[in-house]
Amino acid sequence: MQISCIKMEGMSSDQSKEVAHTYRATQARTSIIAVLTEGNAPLSVGEILDVLKKRKSCPNKTTVYRQLATLIRRDMVKEVQFTEGAKRYEMADTGHHHHVVCTQCKRVEDVTVEGDLAAEEKMIAKTKKFKALRHSLEFYGLCPKCA
Ligand SMILES: [Zn+2]
Ligand SMILES: [Zn+2]
Repeated sequence: MQISCIKMEGMSSDQSKEVAHTYRATQARTSIIAVLTEGNAPLSVGEILDVLKKRKSCPNKTTVYRQLATLIRRDMVKEVQFTEGAKRYEMADTGHHHHVVCTQCKRVEDVTVEGDLAAEEKMIAKTKKFKALRHSLEFYGLCPKCA
């Protein structure tokens, strides 16, 4: 049983549950956005939960998954899947960038590379006759903690 963050006065327990539920959902969504914005890196659900717990916010795993699904539907958050490790989530409006992944602890950080790959993309589009090209690029290695 999870401890509720808020208590409603003067309401039936059903009404109170309903309000508490909506309130918790909104609160969870807001704090997930804050965590992802500050994170500057794609985070797994486990990592999101860790940060929320430290902030004394109390959503459970199901709530986090549900809110992430809503945010993805609204194009506010995007899911990133790497060759290794769990699915991760980041804000959709971070602009084009790439990722560096630690093969040991699976930690992921955002990176921007010097001179983006626009020229290569154009070249591929031309030689392969592909339209609407985009790319994703991951670098793999060991982070300072694991090296
Ligand atoms: Zn590492
Ligand atoms: Zn990223």
